[in-house]
Amino acid sequence: MGAGESGVGAALLASRQGHVVFVSDAGSIRQKWKDELNDHQIEWEENGHSLERITQSNEVIKSPGIPNASPFIQKLIAEGITPISDVEFAARYTDAKLICITGSNGKTTTAHLIHHVLKKGGLDVEIAGNVGVSFAKKVMECQPDYFVLELSSFQLEDMYAFKADVAILLNITPDHLDRYEQSMELYGRAKMRITQNQTERDVFIYNGDDPQIKRQMEKVKTNAKVYAFSIQQPNNVAAYLDEKQETITIKNKLIMSIHDLALKGKHNIQNALAAGITGKIVELRKESIRESLSDFTNVEHRLEFVAKVNGIEFINDSKATNINATWFALESMNAPTVWIVGGVDKGNDYDELMPLVREKVKSIVCLGKDNQKIMDAFEGVVEQIVETQSPMDAVGYAYQLAKKDETVLLSPACASFDLFENYEDRGLQFKQAVRAL
Ligand code: ADP
Repeated sequence: MGAGESGVGAALLASRQGHVVFVSDAGSIRQKWKDELNDHQIEWEENGHSLERITQSNEVIKSPGIPNASPFIQKLIAEGITPISDVEFAARYTDAKLICITGSNGKTTTAHLIHHVLKKGGLDVEIAGNVGVSFAKKVMECQPDYFVLELSSFQLEDMYAFKADVAILLNITPDHLDRYEQSMELYGRAKMRITQNQTERDVFIYNGDDPQIKRQMEKVKTNAKVYAFSIQQPNNVAAYLDEKQETITIKNKLIMSIHDLALKGKHNIQNALAAGITGKIVELRKESIRESLSDFTNVEHRLEFVAKVNGIEFINDSKATNINATWFALESMNAPTVWIVGGVDKGNDYDELMPLVREKVKSIVCLGKDNQKIMDAFEGVVEQIVETQSPMDAVGYAYQLAKKDETVLLSPACASFDLFENYEDRGLQFKQAVRAL
């Protein structure tokens, strides 16, 4: 169900495995997916699901975009069918060791970082999941020794027998609560499924500073070997940032200066600690881990340096679609900042950003259809707030408001669907506008 990257990938793999496959989408299917399905003689339907035909299947694989609460899925469940995720399905057809990453923020960055660390260490490793090509397609293409998989809470919800060899939980902060009855408890429980079925031969790496994870760990017992990391204190953890905030230590492996880390910002120190522990577990040499943590190139749209124009630095953090991601972006700013913020608000509490905004932000440029909530929150807190509805205008105003040696940061804390196709589109238009300066 659902003909996108993950659904079509699962359909192709199922067909290759000799199953009779039928793909059903509630909306219209993009031509490129239709072509791909047709090329493989896979039947499909669009603009609606035929219940009778679907309930006759032995198994239903569901795209993560379809909520379990949707009436159609509820009907299937009532008929005794429990849909599974594409990852659950694809995992049956690989013997690779699975290194799985989840969290509210940092999944893509950490997945790429770990992939880089392992690859540079000489291991046979591929990356899949929410990043680029679907896991099912990758499983068809190759059989590496290791897969690094990025998993969302939606995928995890539909996983039952799946087991991660190494599971990594980066953080649990508010996001997508609309799909979890506004409950952090339900959302947290979905994230904890990353450790389900793990045995004492497996590893669970988690953020020891995260209060939501700590709460969940009291309730969910895991058999895996646990490794915590911390940027707050060095005790009872496997990796930490020292108290002077100058070095990171991966215990019994390596110590390195944070200035040598490729990625800047406290959040990226957490990501590096998780990657460092993973490198140690797969027994890479310390020089190799050190080098790969220092020469990694960041993924686009995540605190990405765009250009310096007349001494003003422009940074694209379009992927920051919630408060927590923006918190870390602001935290990492070292110069007075003009902050471009706004879009579709998923229930933001801007108070959480107030201390950082007071300390780091001189002006705010709102970029969204409805900016009232941001204006109300920060009125009187910063020197100036302006409203814009296009990236050209936003960049133009920001350029006027910033002075030499200051920074313009796009870190919206909101989804992008009011003015843009997606966060990539927002980031690209921002970068174009900066280059046009
Ligand atoms: P995800 O795949 O979970 O959405 P990304 O790596 O794409 O995560 O990053 C999303 C946003 O979160 C970016 O703005 C990025 O700078 C920020 N970010 C990255 N790592 C972390 C982290 N460990 N904690 C909080 N924010 C993070």
